[in-house]
Order: sequence, then structure tokens, then C-alpha cells
Amino acid sequence: VARNPGEREFHQAVREVLESLGGVVAKHPEYTDAEVIRRLCEPERQIIFRVPWQDDAGRVQINRGFRVEFNSALGPFKGGLRFHPSVYLGIVKFLGFEQIFKNSLTGLPIGGGKGGSDFNPRGRSAAEVMRFSQSFMTELYRHLGEYTDVPAGDIGVGGREIGYLFGQYKRITNRYESGTLTGKGLSWGGSQVRTEATGYGTVFFVDEILKAAGDSFDGKRVVVSGSGNVAIHATEKVHQLGGLVIACSDSDGYVVDEAGIDFELLHEVKTEQRGRVSDYAAVRGGSARYVAGGSIWDVPCDIALPCATQNELGVDGAERLVRNGCTVVAEGANMPTTPDAIRLLRDAGVRFAPGKAVNAGGVATSALEMQQNASRDSWSFEYTEERLAEIMRSIHDRCLETAEEYGQPGDYVAGANITGFTRVADAMLALGLI
Ligand code: NDP
Repeated sequence: VARNPGEREFHQAVREVLESLGGVVAKHPEYTDAEVIRRLCEPERQIIFRVPWQDDAGRVQINRGFRVEFNSALGPFKGGLRFHPSVYLGIVKFLGFEQIFKNSLTGLPIGGGKGGSDFNPRGRSAAEVMRFSQSFMTELYRHLGEYTDVPAGDIGVGGREIGYLFGQYKRITNRYESGTLTGKGLSWGGSQVRTEATGYGTVFFVDEILKAAGDSFDGKRVVVSGSGNVAIHATEKVHQLGGLVIACSDSDGYVVDEAGIDFELLHEVKTEQRGRVSDYAAVRGGSARYVAGGSIWDVPCDIALPCATQNELGVDGAERLVRNGCTVVAEGANMPTTPDAIRLLRDAGVRFAPGKAVNAGGVATSALEMQQNASRDSWSFEYTEERLAEIMRSIHDRCLETAEEYGQPGDYVAGANITGFTRVADAMLALGLI
């Protein structure tokens, strides 16, 4: 804490991982001898830079850009870029730290990193977003490359922004180096299923949790917070598997739709019209009710999928979920549940699965995009989705096996942290003191 003052979210993320590692460190003194944990907590490289750009009125705006290259023991740095006014070093470091273990869990050759800016895209024109993205990449490009660091999207960075970023990278370097960014459009080097992957993967993971208990999505009422990329595609997949998503949200309020959220309408309102969930409710009419402010966790459900942002599900929300009979909470977002809320849920017998395992489908499919780019190939939707489902099954099973091995059966948090840690730690030992 003294070494990284004020980085609250980073401290939270590190504490959560370290709390799980007692058993593994006791069993493997070589990790302590080589100071693996202290090395893991120190990023390999941190880049902070000025991003000047001009708004539509001709005024000069200045934002701050970040890229934290956390750990490359398993492969090039890999992790998304977030454009949101709340972004500062503590957020980027928490996300980068989580990314190390998540990427390790996928079993694919990718290291961990994260980046972004405190730029707020909300209310900005497409031309402003383009000028900002170009200025951002004008500094960042020198740190990227398919063997070095490969960013993707995150909050506020979707296909449109990846396009502007890739365009500027290509222009500056004079290289059509597809493998340097993932989340690209299908006609210019992207992969099928990448857009859907985090939401789909989240639901595949929950499907495995349910199956492990002899249960299924059939007839389950599901609440999904957020209404961005992850939330939209989680909703789509829940419906395909027989569940019903009855509520979603944004930072202004939430909508309850007892007939089930109409995925296609939500997709159109959010991604084509760039509207709000209140607009969804207005167009949908009838079955949909918009609640301004308030907490989406008031809505009774069997399964809760927080898919918006960090620390969005606190003790109050967790209490209400338990009181209303929710039995599974799986994190589609990164660290959306506070530590107190996690304890409360687990003490109440709710099956809880952490983001670094549940939402790993996004980055896993990014790694599949890199594979396709490297071989100048493109795979079908069905084949790519099957690979994603297989990866999620394997992450789920390895989490449970590891939890069992370390005497904590059914504990997805311990299983994810220990499995993710061990693979990176072994690679760090093998590579020597770097
Ligand atoms: P989007 O920008 O597409 O959507 C974010 C959603 O969360 C929006 O509905 C937004 O509402 C809401 N939100 C953001 N900040 C807040 C806040 N402070 N309070 C309440 N709601 C908020 O992002 P994604 O769907 O891509 O990302 C969602 C989460 O999933 C993040 O935690 C991200 O790190 C994680 N994730 C994403 C991956 C991906 O592939 N995209 C991969 C793995 C994890 P509003 O419009 O009002 O801000």
C-alpha cells in the first residue's frame, strides 16, 4: 500500500488474489525463494502519456493515456483499453493485474496488460472519438506489436474505436499488422464471435456451474447489470439456453421486462442508436418498466450476472439477492462484487464465480483472433464458438479440480486464483530473474 499510494482498486485486486495463495506457497517454497509474488505485483512497464485533441468547437482538450504492461512470462502483453472518466492508474493496474491470471487460466500463450484513458466518449461525436483515438494511438503505437503488446476493447472501446485505433496504427507504421489489436471488424482481420465472446463465455461458464449441480438454465430468471457489449451478448446466450433475462441497466437506472429483455431491440438501441436503457423501455412499451436510479439487485432472480463495472454489487445488493432466493452469482464484469458482498454471498450458500474465470472468454477469443491473423486464416462462426465453449468448460473444470486439490471443494475463487497463479509462476521461474 505504501509503495502504491491511493491505488484503491489495485490493492483490492491484489489482496483478493493473495488471500487464496497460502496453500500453494506453503507447498512450493521455490516461489517464495524467487520472490515470485513480489515480482508479480510490480508491472514490467507502465506508460503514462498526454493525449491532446481538438473537439468539434475547435477547443483543445487534454486527456491522460495509460498502458500498464504487467507480465509477459506467458506471451505478449494482452488486455483491453478502457475509455471512461473514472480511469486512473489504480484502475488500470487492477485490471492489468487481474488480466495476468485470467489470461493464464485460458491456457493460451498471452501475458497480461491493460490500458485506457480518462476520456469520456459519452456525448462526443464520432468525429471527436476518431480524433481522440488517433491522438491516443500516435503515442501508444511505439509500444505495440503482435509479439510485444496487443490491446483490445473494454468499457467505452468497441468495434468503432478499435477501427480508428487500428487505422492510425497502420498509417503511422505503414504495416498492415493485423495481430497488433484484437476486436477488429470481420472484413479487416477480425474474428467471428469476438464481439459476442465475453457475454457468451460468461453464460457458458454459468451453464457449467449449473450442470455440475445437475441443473440447467431452463426457466431460470436472470438479472444482468449493464447494457454494453458483455451484458447484451450474455442476454442473447441466456435466452438461447432456455433462461429468461428480466432486467438490465446503465449508470442512470434499470429496466425490468417481465416478457424477457428483447435482445435485438436492446442491441439496436445501444449499439446503433447509442441510446440508453430508458430508450429501450420507451420503444418496447407494455412489458417493460424503467426505474430511474435505484438498484437492479432489487429485482428477484435465480441467477445474477453483474456485467457493468467494478464494485457495482455491494453488501446491500448482495443481501437483497440472498433474500430473494438467488443461488448463483457470476461476474461478467471485472471485480464487480465488493469483498464484503462476496463473503456475504458465500456464507449464504450462493455459488459465486469470479470475473477472471467467468469473463475469460473475451480474451480467449482475442487469442483465437491472433491465431487466425498469424495464419492468414478465418474460421467459421460455429467452429469459433465451439472453441470458446470448450475453453470455458476447461477453465470451469480446472477451477473445480484445483479447489478440490487444495482442500476447498466448490470454491471457484480459490480455484481460479491458484490455477492462474501456478502457470505464470512456473513460467517466471523457468525464465529466470527478469
Ligand atoms: P461497455 O462500454 O460496452 O458497457 C459498459 C456498461 O456498463 C454500460 O451499460 C455502462 O452504462 C455500464 N457502466 C459503466 N460504468 C458504470 C458505472 N460506473 N456505473 C454503472 N454502470 C456503469 O463495456 P463492456 O460491456 O465491454 O464491459 C463491461 C465489463 O466487462 C467491464 O468490467 C469490463 O472490464 C468487463 N470485460 C469486458 C470484456 C470485453 O470483451 N468487452 C472482456 C472481459 C471483461 P453507461 O453507458 O451508463 O456508462
